[in-house]
Amino acid sequence: LDGLNSKFFGHEVYYYDSVSSTNDVAKELALQGARDGSLVVAEEQTGGKGRLGREWYSPKYKDIKFSLLLYPPVNPSEASQVTMVTAVAMALAVRKKTGVPAGIKWPNDLLVEGRKICGILTEMSAELDKINYLVVGAGLNVNQELADFPEEVRDIATSLKVEKGVELARVSLLQAILEEYEQWYMLWLEQGFSVILAKWKELSVSLHCPVRIHTLNKSWEGWAEDVDADGALLLRLPDGGLQRLIAGDVSLRV
Ligand code: ATP
Repeated sequence: LDGLNSKFFGHEVYYYDSVSSTNDVAKELALQGARDGSLVVAEEQTGGKGRLGREWYSPKYKDIKFSLLLYPPVNPSEASQVTMVTAVAMALAVRKKTGVPAGIKWPNDLLVEGRKICGILTEMSAELDKINYLVVGAGLNVNQELADFPEEVRDIATSLKVEKGVELARVSLLQAILEEYEQWYMLWLEQGFSVILAKWKELSVSLHCPVRIHTLNKSWEGWAEDVDADGALLLRLPDGGLQRLIAGDVSLRV
């Protein structure tokens, strides 16, 4: 990452041809005391996961998948805010660098016109009142053609190449992402969550619209009214009630 203009994000880079998952590698590095902002990048993931253990498809050499190891000095209850910091930074970096109008779908995806272009997965090791470490993984579809996606996601996924019609240089895109990400991460640590939440709402494509929500054993339909100060979704139900949903075990459909 020659020329990377950051204070600590990506100053240590662990680059692999193939790993089970970049998040798993980053977790191992954490146990070995790797430094704050260490970056794990891999060309291939053989066991990439989304939330709830769902598979994340990522063909070799075509996308960007990375995990960042962070030691934020905040309470474990605030860890989910990092996912929102990441979504804001990824959406803005994609917009600035490529012009593709990526928007945020609560809680952890980026969409372009309803199709998923990026997934984010945050994992934490914590004690009662202290985060040991956080690992934030992201997969961004860059140079895939639609034919590169497995059939089950071909109708719901897209890539920057599909959107723009041209190949993009992955390294300079990754640098832009890391620089944007570090700025928003530092802003979050210095000024708190409200400035992040405001930007997140601006970039959101799953607010102020009808949505369906599924958990393992329950479903709701309603109006995505707002996101509260903890990042929970406030769903207005047909009977007028307000249901508060925290990320973790729910899927949202716009
Ligand atoms: P949902 O899309 O239901 O909200 P989610 O946000 O929890 O789910 P993740 O678990 O983060 O999604 O990601 C896994 C899901 O994303 C898979 O079930 C699949 O539908 C889809 N998917 C997998 N690989 C890709 C990819 N490369 N691009 C776009 N979508 C993908």
